[in-house]
Amino acid sequence: MSVRNGGLPRAYRGRLLTPLAAPDGGAQVRFLEDALLVVGADGLIVQVAPFAPGAFRGPVLDLRPAVLMPGFIDAHLHFPQTRIIGSASGALLDWLDRSVFPEEARFRDEGYAALVAGEFTDRLLASGTTTCVVYSSSCAGATDQLFRALLRAGLRGIAGLTLMDQNCPEALCVPRDEAIAAARDLVQRWHGEGGGLLEFAITPRFAPTCSRPLLEAAARLARDHDLLVQTHVAESPAECEATLREHPWARDYVDVYDRVGLLTGRTLLAHAIHLSPREWDRVAEARSSVVHCPDSNFFLGSGRMRLGDARARAVPVALGSDVGAGRSFDMRRSMSSAFDNALCLGDRLTPSALFVMATQGTADAIGLGRVIGSLEAGKEADFLAVRFPDHVLSDSDLLNHLAFAPETAAIKRSFVRGNPVHPRPPGAPPLIHP
Ligand SMILES: [Zn+2]
Repeated sequence: MSVRNGGLPRAYRGRLLTPLAAPDGGAQVRFLEDALLVVGADGLIVQVAPFAPGAFRGPVLDLRPAVLMPGFIDAHLHFPQTRIIGSASGALLDWLDRSVFPEEARFRDEGYAALVAGEFTDRLLASGTTTCVVYSSSCAGATDQLFRALLRAGLRGIAGLTLMDQNCPEALCVPRDEAIAAARDLVQRWHGEGGGLLEFAITPRFAPTCSRPLLEAAARLARDHDLLVQTHVAESPAECEATLREHPWARDYVDVYDRVGLLTGRTLLAHAIHLSPREWDRVAEARSSVVHCPDSNFFLGSGRMRLGDARARAVPVALGSDVGAGRSFDMRRSMSSAFDNALCLGDRLTPSALFVMATQGTADAIGLGRVIGSLEAGKEADFLAVRFPDHVLSDSDLLNHLAFAPETAAIKRSFVRGNPVHPRPPGAPPLIHP
């Protein structure tokens, strides 16, 4: 584990808002009006307690009136779509053809990929995202550049080479053996790097663009290295039809991933809008997670994900921006869209539940619930200092502003494993004030 904070425990004073990890996945939130957050030299949280003068022997960085809270976790976004946010060129399949594939083809140029990778991590940092689960393009060099940028930024990231060997432009199509060899090489180079902050994920784009042999080889590689799997499922009706046309041997969409060995307890299924009760049952049995991408679903007109179907089966739900179909890197925008999505279905999510979803809930769904997602002793210190307007005092007001008025709440600082990652000008001294 890398230690870059000088080897000493550090303490931060501020208001503090955090979910409390609960085994039942409940939405309990703790608020301290004046708190001390102590971080050990190893980047782990040592203590979270009400502030008491003299209780900590050492320098305390006083961040009041900012609110300390866990960093946001974005469980689904696409690095090569950074520059095409807001391309309103149609529903999913048309949007892929018209906006996404031409842009992703540019990532064969590693110089271009490196440039955009820097923009990508800057956008994440400015938004208060400290962990991302991300798709690269199908180009190994671009994926390498993505990992380099994540490492440089000090972010926690799980990233994968997007696998496509059919039904896509020639510039993006990579045959199975070549793609699997490239993925294996990236696993060796990056999985576990950054002191464990970086992981490689097996990333078939979605069933229509992947042959059965490619999906089977991907599943083997995931098993061999115990890797997270991420893919899309049942985002739009036309995509569901294309999937069954391409894979007529499967009984439904989820069955495609299931039969090739990609439906596991380490699988993240993005969107999951048009699933049958049988498919939801299989997702639950396999202990896979779904990633809710409400802002993207609104933008592409894909439909409304029914959270109730997941909840009824205890399927873990992560939240994802799905940039570039999602219109913002800011997870607070996704929280707000999740509220709207639920309202459309007659359900009313509380700001507290939305906050939990974007932090501890997503950490649980991606398998990092014991590591990050809340500010509690023993967890890694991934946290933000957020400045709200002076009149926003109570915890309920803070949560309301966080979810629904993000422009009023500025992300002042971000830390990953106790290390300052934002702002972090080159050569800047440590942030401790005596
Ligand atoms: Zn996506």
